[in-house]
Amino acid sequence: MSRSKEVMLTCPECKQDSSFTIWESINTTLDPEMKQAVLDKSAFLFECPKCHKKTNEDYGFLYHQKEDNIMIHYANSDEDAERV
Ligand SMILES: [Zn+2]
Repeated sequence: MSRSKEVMLTCPECKQDSSFTIWESINTTLDPEMKQAVLDKSAFLFECPKCHKKTNEDYGFLYHQKEDNIMIHYANSDEDAERV
């Protein structure tokens, strides 16, 4: 299954706090639209609702493309890699 959580991010431009969805686990069989979102990186793009400044968010996640037997665990820190 796919798993996501809402976090609060502060815009680097206008300092406005707003929510952003972090995908901890992506299953493309259940959420086929996420395959494209990962490919075009829109899954990691935070757009400030106030000033529309776009920021790339780097976070670790599990990517499971079951139909092609692909499973990737992306870790963006040593701590994250250790946990995996
Ligand atoms: Zn902003």
